[in-house]
Order: sequence, then structure tokens, then C-alpha cells
Amino acid sequence: MGWFKRAPEDDFNTLPKRHPKIRGIKRRTLDMIMEASKDSYENGHEFAAVLRARKDVIHELLMLPDGGNRGKTSVMVYLHMLPIDLSIVGSVHSHPSSNYYPSEADLDFFGRAGSVNIIVAYPYNDRSWQAYNRSGEKIILDVIG
Ligand code: ZN
Repeated sequence: MGWFKRAPEDDFNTLPKRHPKIRGIKRRTLDMIMEASKDSYENGHEFAAVLRARKDVIHELLMLPDGGNRGKTSVMVYLHMLPIDLSIVGSVHSHPSSNYYPSEADLDFFGRAGSVNIIVAYPYNDRSWQAYNRSGEKIILDVIG
């Protein structure tokens, strides 16, 4: 109520933090995420994949064997099947709406998927995504190169 009302998901008290180890994401990798998310959207799916980093930059997507079109459940199954791979830092998934905030199910998923989790939302451009840590707090990722 009132002129100062903001969306409930906005948080006055915490500014986005930096991840202690991951500085950013490659422009090429972010573009691939956006393309795959658009494709999935047009086919009525959510896109989901695993993120890999080299040093402090996310540089690669591990697309799931089925193309990621079965979403976060297949990410978890896939992570479980892989040998321990320290270059895997987290996950990315798309939302079919313009809302890039994590759902309760997303928060549970983030806790298990890794310490960098990106949500991309419609229309899948530079202003429609956000990264979160394991606890669902916003983190800043630079887009590099
Ligand atoms: Zn989600």
C-alpha cells in the first residue's frame, strides 16, 4: 500500500554480492544460454544446463544428453551421473515468463546444484537474467569478452 510499495521480491537491505571465486561469464556462453532458452520457449519447454568455469570465468555449458528440455530434474540426474568435476560451478535454467526470481523449488534446487545458479527470463536478453548463490541471494557476474 502507498506510493513506496515495491515488489515483494525486492530487498532493501541486501545489495547483490560478488561470488568469492567466480568473477563472470563469457559473452559467448551467455549468448548460447539466451539462444537455447529462446528455442526452448518456442517449443514450450524450460531450458536447463550445467555451468562450467575455467579459473574464475564461466566459459562452458554442459548441455544435457536430451538437450536440457526436461529441465532441472534432468540436471540433478546428470550431476549425479558425472564423475566429480571441480570445473562445474552450478546451473542455469529458463523461465517462460519475465520473472527471473527463484521459486521455492528453485531455491531447493540451487542448494544442491552448485554455488552459481542463473535464471534467464523472457525475452532472454541482457536485462532479463540474474545469478544467485546457493542460498538464493543475488550475485553479480561480469559479462566478459
Ligand atoms: Zn525456476
